[in-house]
Amino acid sequence: MSCVNMEDRAKECILQAATRFNITLKDKQFDAIKAFLSGRDVFVSLPTGYGKSLIYALLPIVFDLFKEQRGSIVICISPLVCLMMDQKAKFAPQGIITEFLGEEQTDASCIRSVKNGEVQLVYMSPESIICNFQYRNMLLSPVYQEKLVAFVVDEAHCVKKWGDSFRIAYSQLGDIRSFLPPSVNVMALTATATNATYKSVCQRLSLHDPVLVGHSPNRDNIMYEVRPITDLSSFCGLIADELKQLGLEYPKTIIFLQSYGDCALMYQTLKLKLGPCITFPPNYPILQQFAVIGMYTRASKTEMKEKTLASFCETHGKLRIVLATTAFGMGVDCRDVRVIYHWRAPSDLEQYAQETGRAGRDNLPSRAILLYGNPGRHVEEKVKKYASNRSVCRREYLMKQFLCSDQVEPTRDLSTCCDVCRDSVTKNNY
Ligand SMILES: [Zn+2]
Repeated sequence: MSCVNMEDRAKECILQAATRFNITLKDKQFDAIKAFLSGRDVFVSLPTGYGKSLIYALLPIVFDLFKEQRGSIVICISPLVCLMMDQKAKFAPQGIITEFLGEEQTDASCIRSVKNGEVQLVYMSPESIICNFQYRNMLLSPVYQEKLVAFVVDEAHCVKKWGDSFRIAYSQLGDIRSFLPPSVNVMALTATATNATYKSVCQRLSLHDPVLVGHSPNRDNIMYEVRPITDLSSFCGLIADELKQLGLEYPKTIIFLQSYGDCALMYQTLKLKLGPCITFPPNYPILQQFAVIGMYTRASKTEMKEKTLASFCETHGKLRIVLATTAFGMGVDCRDVRVIYHWRAPSDLEQYAQETGRAGRDNLPSRAILLYGNPGRHVEEKVKKYASNRSVCRREYLMKQFLCSDQVEPTRDLSTCCDVCRDSVTKNNY
């Protein structure tokens, strides 16, 4: 078949798969699938909320159509079981047989059907594919050698961020390549990747001349601000006063903290300041369905986390503020978060951009406020520059670190761009 025909056929198969899902693909989703289908490794860097997971979830169907076979298999490496479960809940009803493997998976019949190649979208942690020999060897089984069509690494920034430290398996994922049939390509996906991360991930995953499908993480509806950090008690006092005053009108807010200890301390302080107003209506029993503040950390139980998320994402939910450590940053889709605070700077700008990207998914005006002071030793130089600078637009500085920064157009309305731009306007007016 000629190249042109091949391309037409690829397009046709993608559109047909999308129709089966009853969806219209966005441009970059389409581009990524098409590039992958042409036999290339693909690096996808798209803003949170764009719909990255749909790209690989469609692959089994697209390949079935393209290769005229049945039961194409995609393996997707994902960092957290709760994310895998979220995705399973999302895709299984669409008719894609989805399962996850790992320590948490105790259902023997499920493991068996994955091994038999009956599951088309298989989620695994990096540890389970690197350290568990039965899963690793599964890749060499005849059914996987025949039916595996893609090896996907979701949240690929973890390869750089965690590969050196507490999740070493991430740095070894490149070795998996030798277990894959030669025709199987690798797709890496991440929300926000800096130029440095891109290079590091490509190298560690042994990507061969990948096609980059990207979008700058810039979102014009988020205004960036840096404020000097105050003491915890005054900050909580202000928040509590406003919460008491506004009740359910209080804008949905996430406060990111750098440790579980900080998170628990802020929760206790807020609780004290709020008194009976910790629930809505006030003086109700402090139960999840009435609480106006909640915590979401690695230490929270999974069931608790799910409940917190569900009530935060409800349009008319009571929960107004969630205190979170970084775990909140992944795979969460609450569209109407208006304010993101960072209590102290995160260690790098990638994390900062990803966490602030939780704001205003509905495209309405939202704010990202960094409360900054005395950065710890772990805080990268670029973060310090971002925070302490008073002359360069914060959006410009932040977005320049990321892939596809050439796509960022200067914001027209300076008063809603960042505090530096806003102040420059105010200065010029007087
Ligand atoms: Zn600006």
